[in-house]
Amino acid sequence: MNVPKEMNRYCPKCKTHTLQKVALYKAGKRRGSAIGERRHEEDKKGYGGQKFPKLAKPAKTTKKQTLIFTCPQCKKKTNKHGIRLRKLELVA
Ligand SMILES: [Zn+2]
Repeated sequence: MNVPKEMNRYCPKCKTHTLQKVALYKAGKRRGSAIGERRHEEDKKGYGGQKFPKLAKPAKTTKKQTLIFTCPQCKKKTNKHGIRLRKLELVA
């Protein structure tokens, strides 16, 4: 699906429509020092270490794509709920 780089969209902070910049959401880098990561690493150690089965055949063939809209006036960011797409492209 082709998505324009700029869209006229409602801003909840300005309470009007503004021409907003569109970006694609990307998950942040995982921190190895986070408590969940450390605990999981500890759980996986030793005999019978894998605590839950690794997905051999994932049911979904696509990922949910989330769009981030940024208002140029107040810099407020709003997300559009994720839509399942094979391919998403930002076009001018
Ligand atoms: Zn705004």
